[in-house]
Parts: sequence; structure tokens; C-alpha cells
Amino acid sequence: MSNPSLLILAGDGIGAEVMVEVKRIIDWYGDKRSLSFDVSEDLVGGAAYDVHGVPLHDDTMAKAQAVDAVLLGAVGGPKYDDLDFSVKPERGLLRLRKEMDLFANLRPAQCFDALADFSSLKKDVVAGLDIMIVRELTSGVYFGEPRGIHVEDNMRVGVNTQRYTEAEIERAARAAFDLAMKRDKRVCSMEKANVMESGILWRDVVTEVHADYPEVTLSHMYADNGAMQLVRAPKQFDVILTDNLFGDILSDCAAMLTGSLGMLPSASLGLPMANGRPKAMYEPVHGSAPDIAGQGKANPIACILSFAMALRYSFDEGAEADRLEAAIEKVLSDGARTGDLMGPEGGTPLSTSEMGDVILAALDASL
Ligand code: NAD
Repeated sequence: MSNPSLLILAGDGIGAEVMVEVKRIIDWYGDKRSLSFDVSEDLVGGAAYDVHGVPLHDDTMAKAQAVDAVLLGAVGGPKYDDLDFSVKPERGLLRLRKEMDLFANLRPAQCFDALADFSSLKKDVVAGLDIMIVRELTSGVYFGEPRGIHVEDNMRVGVNTQRYTEAEIERAARAAFDLAMKRDKRVCSMEKANVMESGILWRDVVTEVHADYPEVTLSHMYADNGAMQLVRAPKQFDVILTDNLFGDILSDCAAMLTGSLGMLPSASLGLPMANGRPKAMYEPVHGSAPDIAGQGKANPIACILSFAMALRYSFDEGAEADRLEAAIEKVLSDGARTGDLMGPEGGTPLSTSEMGDVILAALDASL
């Protein structure tokens, strides 16, 4: 059987720097765990614009459609701020999400014990937190028609439309239930069925899909209460399923429970391909961080955790994903910190590659 295939699109700024460390981890799995990937690399964002005049070349798009998973670093930077909207680096990212039809955005909020002090919440509220938000990514109020600003009776009116089809809700719900089956088997679906018809439909369809997942416990919550519960007692949740708009807000809220942007991975999944694996792109939540780019200061953990998500959700290597996450937990509890994770007690921060070194050493020690 051939190796699973990975397309690496490192992108701009610290995207390229953190990806160097991820490639070392990928090589480690090939050398030490006989888990080899066919890795190809290409350009995205400003790096692609510099060479091709577009932020994503058609050939790169075709490669992304053909591989088992895409691993992306970050795009953007001040050099490209004045470009026309159509060729801005972010357009490359949006094109990937749209053409791969990545409708389920997975944002874990996981709090490593060693970093519990970084949260704005009390340590005991967040220590050990491990929740997953599944946000519908390709429909809802950000895409619904009619939309726009027009004039009625000499007054400007702004319009956006929350619109969901049954099929769109169903596939997002299936993604959440499938995930829950690999976790603690609990899904909480959040909408505003009390005031929105689209919320009523959301609740109905999620309940119908649940019939196919008898092992999973399903609960429903109004999204405003969900926001409150997320900061009151976030550990009550396992998988949270929600729409595009509420998911945008709730996932940012949940992410910040855990502290630093340099720690946050994400995955965007689409429909299964012929080999049964979902179309998938994995990327850290952070951007290209021009303020620290080129200085070896970036924290590579968000990108490394994104690869751990790929192991778990694209390649069914949950035990190896656990191994990688445990190695990260270990180095953090041993006190390894990049600059973004330095507390008031100070100390000498590790460089990007030094953080890679200690994680690799922890992986070696796990054998
Ligand atoms: P950013 O995420 O790049 O940086 C925000 C702050 O967090 C900065 O101070 C940065 O130094 C710090 N930071 C981020 N990641 C870090 C890491 N791994 N280690 C240490 N510190 C880290 O957001 P921004 O400054 O608003 O945007 C910079 C550029 O990135 C812009 O061009 C923006 O459009 C782009 N961007 C891209 C993505 C993406 O590719 N997915 C996401 C957000 C922003």
C-alpha cells in the first residue's frame, strides 16, 4: 500500500519557520515509527504571489485536491497589504477552503496543565480542559442571499440572510457525531431555536441525524447560554456543534480559555474521498506574525498540534497523535517556553528550533 500523501504549504512569515519543525516531526515518524508520508511542498499566499502573481496557482490547487491532507502554515504580511483584494495572500487560503468544500471547521480548546496560569479564568476551571468546537464553515449568514446595503424610504438598510439547507446541517452534524465517536461521545448543539427558524431546523435535523449515532449523547443549548457556559464551566463540554456565525464567536472565545495564540491548532474537513478519508486542511489558528518573523522566536506548537490533528482525523493514528500531544505536555511541564509563553517569572525563552529539539527528544523518550 502506498504511503498517505501530505501537501505542505508553509506560506509566509513564521508559517515557513514553524513548518520546518513540523517537517522534523514528520521525518521522526518515518524513521522511528515506520509511519511515512509522501510529502510534497508548494507555495501559497505572498510566497506564491511573488513567483506566480497569484496567491494560489491552479497547479497547487489541483495538488491540494489530490492529496490525503494539506498542512498549511500562515499567509500574509505588510509587503502585500496594498495588493488588489483579488490577489491578497488570504485569497489563496479562501480558495483552498472553498474549492475543497471544507465545511466543518474543528477548533480544539485544550489546556495543558503547565499553561493553566495563562488563562484569564481560574486555574481549576481550565486545567485539563479538552473540548472541540465544530463550526459549519461554508454556509449561513456569511453567505446567504439576499445581502447588501440598499436605500428604503431615504434610509440605508443593511441586510444579511441566515440560510441553511437540511443537507448543510446534516453534513456538519455528521462531522460532529463522527468526531464525538473518537472522543468522549458527547455532542452539544448550539443555535437560537427560540428566536430563529433556521435554529429550529438546525435542532430538528441534528436530532434526526443523532438517530444514526445511538452511542453519542446529544444535548441542545441556546448559543447565548453556550457562551456563558463556556466561560463558567467549560469542562462540561466534549464536542460543541454550531453554525458559521455562532461558531466564529464561540470558537474564539473557547480558544482564549487556553492562553496563547501560539498553541492553537485547527482542522477544516470536507466530504470523504474515494479512499474514505475526508478532504482536509490542517493549520495553526495564528497568522504570519510579521512582528517576530525571521527572528526564530515563533512558537511551533500550534502547527505541530495541527499535524497531530492530521494524524488523528485523516490517518486514523490516534495513538500516535496522543504520543505527540503527550510529548508537548511533557516539555511544557518541564518548563520549556518560547517567548509567547513566558510568564512574569521570566527566564530565557527557547527559539523555534530549540522548541522543536526538546519535543523531538520527548518523542524519543516515549519509545
Ligand atoms: P498573528 O496571528 O500573525 O499575530 C498576532 C500576535 O500573536 C503577534 O504579536 C504575533 O507575534 C503573535 N503570535 C502569533 N503566532 C505566534 C506564534 N506561533 N508564536 C509566537 N507568537 C505568535 O495576527 P496578525 O498580526 O493580526 O496578522 C499578521 C498577518 O497574518 C496579517 O497579514 C494577517 O492577514 C495574517 N493572518 C493570517 C492568518 C492565516 O494564515 N490563517 C490568520 C490570521 C492572520
